[in-house]
Amino acid sequence: MISYDLAGKTALVTGGASGIGFATAKMLAGFGATVAVNHLPDDPRGPEAVDKLIDAGGKAIGAPGNVGEADDAERMVLQAVKDLGRLDLLVSNAGTPGTRRRIAPPELDLITEELWSLLLATNLLGVFRCAKAAAPALKAAHGAIVNTASIAGLGRAGSSLAYSATKAGVVSLTQNLARALAPEVRVNAIAPGAVDSSWMVEWTNEERQQSIERALLKRRCQPEDLAEVIVFLGFGAAMVTGQTITVDGGLTL
Ligand code: NAD
Repeated sequence: MISYDLAGKTALVTGGASGIGFATAKMLAGFGATVAVNHLPDDPRGPEAVDKLIDAGGKAIGAPGNVGEADDAERMVLQAVKDLGRLDLLVSNAGTPGTRRRIAPPELDLITEELWSLLLATNLLGVFRCAKAAAPALKAAHGAIVNTASIAGLGRAGSSLAYSATKAGVVSLTQNLARALAPEVRVNAIAPGAVDSSWMVEWTNEERQQSIERALLKRRCQPEDLAEVIVFLGFGAAMVTGQTITVDGGLTL
C-alpha cells in the first residue's frame, strides 16, 4: 500500500463511524491527518469511533450532524471546518439504502414517496450540501472531494431502483462539481461493489457466495480496500478529476 505523510492535513468524513467511512478515517489518521468524523447525532458509534482513533494515536474530533437535512448538513460542515482550522479533504460517504431487503426492479409498489425522499435527501442532496458548504475552505487549501457512489449507480440494479438512481446522480454530480470547483479542487468518486460492512441490506449466504464467485478476484471488498482508493484520490492522483473509480474486484466486468 502507498504511504502518505499527512501531518498538518485535515479531512472530514461523512458517515465516518462505521464501514467504509470508519476505515477511511482510520487510514487518514494513521497517516497523520486530523480527521473530523461525521455521524448521525444519536449514533453512539460516533463518539466511540473518535475514541478508537485517538486511542490508536491519531488526531480526531466528532462532527455530529444529519447530511439529509439542509440546515444541519451546512452547520455540521462549517463547524468541522472551524474546529479543524482548514479543510484538505471532504469524503462524502454517508449513505443509506432505506431498506433491509433488496427491492427488485418489478416491485414498483414498494418504491414509496417516503423511500425516494429519504434516499434523495441523504445519498444525493447530502453530497451536494456538504460540497457547497465546504467549497470555500477546500478552495483555500487546494483540497479535494471524494464521494462514495456505487456500482448501482453505473447500471447495476442495487438495493432498489431509487437507490441506484441516487448513486447515478452522485456520478453526475461528481463530474459537475469537478467543473464547478476547478482548478483549485479535484472532485472524484469511488463506486464500491459488494462490501463487507455494517451496511443495512441483508445478504443471504447464497448471495454472498455468488458475489465472491462472480468477482474476478474471488473475494468481497473489505472497507479498507475502498479506504485505500479514497485516500489515493484525496491526496495522490494530482491530475485526476471528475472520475468515478470502480472498486469491486472485477464483479461487474
Ligand atoms: P455503513 O452503513 O456502515 O455506512 C453508512 C454510514 O452513513 C453509517 O455510519 C450511517 O449511520 C451513516 N449515515 C446514514 N445516513 C446518514 C445521514 N443522513 N447523515 C450522516 N450519516 C449518515 O455502510 P458502508 O458500506 O460503509 O456504506 C458507506 C457508503 O458506501 C454508502 O454511501 C453506501 O451507499 C456505499 N456503498 C456501500 C456498498 C456495500 O456493499 N456496503 C456498496 C456500494 C456503495
